Amino acid sequence: MTAPLNLKKTARRGTQEMPPRRFCSGANLETCIPDHESSRRRFLRMTMAGTVAGIVTAAGMEFTEPHPVMAQSKLSPDAALQELMDGNARFISGRSNAHEQDVLILKQHTLDKQEPYAAVLACADSRVPVEMVFDQTIGHLFVSRVAGNVVTPEIIASLEYGAAVLGTKVILVIGHANCGAVKATIQAKEVPGQISALFPHIQPAVDQAGPNLEAATKANAKIQAALLREASTVIAGLVKDKKLRVVAGYYDLASGTASLLE
Ligand SMILES: [Zn+2]
Repeated sequence: MTAPLNLKKTARRGTQEMPPRRFCSGANLETCIPDHESSRRRFLRMTMAGTVAGIVTAAGMEFTEPHPVMAQSKLSPDAALQELMDGNARFISGRSNAHEQDVLILKQHTLDKQEPYAAVLACADSRVPVEMVFDQTIGHLFVSRVAGNVVTPEIIASLEYGAAVLGTKVILVIGHANCGAVKATIQAKEVPGQISALFPHIQPAVDQAGPNLEAATKANAKIQAALLREASTVIAGLVKDKKLRVVAGYYDLASGTASLLE
């Protein structure tokens, strides 16, 4: 309960009060970014560089009232993927810092619009909280979640919107250890309601990899990623132009490690 409540407070403060003016040296952004990690600092510097450089006076000092220069605008697909994996490395090592930057990001970048740098298609499983696993905060990730991380027309539509309109540079399709949806597909037992609607999407992976849960889950992530590359002309076009990468990954619940499968 604590985190969501704090988040709401933060958002409310950001919209109702004037943000405090921050005096910064244009040559030393670290003095105005509450940040303790080099990769994150580099990322924010890239984000803010254009804004700050434009308002530095002859005296070299000026307050920053940044325009919403967007997080992903300068990232290549490779750099976007690296940013994501760097976040997972921070998460694994217990050095997550995204929560420290919510206020800054909210005020400067996401009140009016969003430009997330990466999209993630993940399972609905409660043990795969995407932003937490990749140590990302508000406005960074465009996340679609559905049991079994399967590609459906609605998921394609969402990810096309993320890539073509919002400008995500990478789409990560990530399966995870002990996935109930893949397990249920392997078992092929009677299930209530419409749960079995998931099975046809996952069955090709079971056919390919056999009944081993981890193998089938990894195969499923790769198959769904390939589907995105092929079934969507929008995504295929962006991939062809090297403006977007679509990659598959696997999240290990025990270690917290997200690894790429290609
Ligand atoms: Zn799952």
